[in-house]
Amino acid sequence: MKDNPEKILKKVFGYDEFRPLQAEIIDSVLNKQDALVIMPTGGGKSICYQIPALIFKGLTVVVSPLISLMKDQVEQLAELGVSAVCLNSSILREEYGKNIGLIKQGKTNLLYIAPETLLKPGILDLLSSAGVSCLAIDEAHCISEWGHDFRPEYRQLADVRSRFSDAVCIALTATATPRVQQDIKNSLNIKSSSEYIGSFNRENLFIRIVPKTDPVDQTVSFIRQFPDQSGIIYCFSRKQVEDLSETLGQKGFSVRPYHAGLSGEERKKNQELFIKDDVLIIVATIAFGMGINKPNVRFVIHYDLPKNIESYYQEIGRSGRDGLRSECMLLFSYGDIQKIKYFINQKPAHEKRMANIHLQALLKFAETDICRRIPLLSYFGEEYSIKKCGMCDNCLSDEKELQDITVYAQKFLSCVKRTGEIFGAAHVVDVLRGSESKKVLKFGHQSLSTYGIGKDLSKKQWFHLSRQFLHKGLVTQDMEYGGLNLTEKAWDVFKGKENVYGRIEAEEIKVVKKRPTENITDFDEKLFDRLRKKRKEIADEAKVPPYVIFSDRTLIEISAFFPQTIENMNNIYGIGEEKLKKYGFIFLEIICEYCEKHGIDERPKEIGQRKRKTSKQTGKPRHVAIGEAYNAGESIEKIMTQYSIKLVTVLDHLFKYYLESNKIRSDGLLSVSALSQKDVQAVLKTFDRLGPEYLSPIFMEHNGDVSYEDLKITRLYYLSEKPPLPLS
Ligand code: ADP
Ligand code: ZN
Repeated sequence: MKDNPEKILKKVFGYDEFRPLQAEIIDSVLNKQDALVIMPTGGGKSICYQIPALIFKGLTVVVSPLISLMKDQVEQLAELGVSAVCLNSSILREEYGKNIGLIKQGKTNLLYIAPETLLKPGILDLLSSAGVSCLAIDEAHCISEWGHDFRPEYRQLADVRSRFSDAVCIALTATATPRVQQDIKNSLNIKSSSEYIGSFNRENLFIRIVPKTDPVDQTVSFIRQFPDQSGIIYCFSRKQVEDLSETLGQKGFSVRPYHAGLSGEERKKNQELFIKDDVLIIVATIAFGMGINKPNVRFVIHYDLPKNIESYYQEIGRSGRDGLRSECMLLFSYGDIQKIKYFINQKPAHEKRMANIHLQALLKFAETDICRRIPLLSYFGEEYSIKKCGMCDNCLSDEKELQDITVYAQKFLSCVKRTGEIFGAAHVVDVLRGSESKKVLKFGHQSLSTYGIGKDLSKKQWFHLSRQFLHKGLVTQDMEYGGLNLTEKAWDVFKGKENVYGRIEAEEIKVVKKRPTENITDFDEKLFDRLRKKRKEIADEAKVPPYVIFSDRTLIEISAFFPQTIENMNNIYGIGEEKLKKYGFIFLEIICEYCEKHGIDERPKEIGQRKRKTSKQTGKPRHVAIGEAYNAGESIEKIMTQYSIKLVTVLDHLFKYYLESNKIRSDGLLSVSALSQKDVQAVLKTFDRLGPEYLSPIFMEHNGDVSYEDLKITRLYYLSEKPPLPLS
């Protein structure tokens, strides 16, 4: 018998558990139910067709327009011991022929193919005779003219789809607009009930926006905090890219530029160096990042304002694909907004309107003082129900830090007034700080009474304050020229009628020095370094990027648990059977030698895992704490907010609690379900007939009309009426 998905996840990929939605999607594909999967970059879409591909008899065909990523995927699969090939225009003739041969002989599970190659004469016939079990359409938004990356060849995939009518179709994308989703479903004839939309919240990204004062200094002090780690810096123009990358290079950073003005060859080379960890930092225009899959990018800096929120999200999304903590910093200035305004004004009228809407959304995001994830996710139609994410600048600065800044406000506002309400914050701050800049002298502002009265704060701190004054409606900014004007409210502050509360920013931008992985609080950095060197050696020899051999997270776990037997090596994140066979002993030797020299004992990984799942409040495993709280009368909604988890996560915890021979109380379940009483009765009957072990047969039985969430609720209700049963 073939292995089930969980076993394959562990055995082949070396992962312990599925991420949200993966299990359901795989279940649906295995049941030959078409699916549309929308998940952010790094969400784990590939596994949703790769695992079924290992179970299906026939071929899984993966259509993708990103040729550079195909090679990467095939290499990664090869390292896992999975046979996959690709066909596209970049492949040499000999290899092309070899791959065709492998397909003909049924010797490969997965075929990655470019759409134009798929449509070539002969290819479809070849695939028909090889037998296609699954058609996976990656980057499925390319099918829609409403998407940002429409590709005409994608339109013809509808015909391909109908030609392989026995094959299940799974379409995947990270683009979330409803219009595009609808287009994909229509073109590929996917039912609305088989849509899986993951959360667009990337929990591991720390988001911060910092007033841009000394961008070079700010950037340097920021990246100094990431020695030996990779990052991307996005700039607005090619010139900016060149300048900054030269400056950073002179300061000794390992850095290369990337922009459309470089030759194709140069770009390719710089990208390759970055992917292989030979260069750590890329300074780029937005053109960089589409075709790369590097999982260990630890920071992204926006040196200039991004084009719009969607680009910003895509760009920060290139960090932290491995799920480890990563830092994103945007340097924000009103001057940059003027620059963008200028470019917008060059556009034709209809484009101007859209561009202005985009800019406003971006401003709103930059100026907010609530959790940044709220406006960011709402842009993608997602409501972020947690008030404080703890992973953005606004959430970290505590309420208690609010201080009376009335005097600063009065100084600032009166300086705005005395300089004639025509200057932007930069000039006002110069006057306040007693600068002798040309502009100050030219306008004679050194003789104003407000000249030099703000020397106690730095330029950066004043900028930060000015942003708050703007935000609090004490000043408005002229959109065209950037000049600040006083509002009615400002006069109340002048007259002492109203006080102003806010924050004065600390001098340094400090990245909170946390371990990149939250669950592992302690790992041996020296050993990590040694392992990393070995990985690089192996990777260079095999001519693949280091992450293809082992992810950073794998090496971090090794450096935390010091496994000294092959069996224990197998428990480490990302080490499946094949990698164990190939690299187990090589790495084991380094670990054992290191441990012997330093007198270190192996640490059992279970401890680490238990620690992770333990509830902070009670010291019990989470599912036990949740199960007990629920049985004691706590509502499911309350538990969701208390633990900041989703409904389905609560349900999974309760189910696990039940499986450990505990009873679950029955009242309090159905109130969170969307089903009518009649539907509940019908589902209960199906459970009676088919048993509660697996949900997918129940899902099928109800023609996909009942969501998995509701099935989970009803199953708990069903089981709550019965004595605890150990299900297998
Ligand atoms: P996407 O295609 O959605 O951008 P990928 O499929 O490339 O994302 O997955 C991102 C990373 O997460 C990969 O390194 C992948 O191996 C890893 N990953 C996927 N599923 C899991 C899981 N269940 N547990 C741990 N890691 C996972
Ligand atoms: Zn937040």
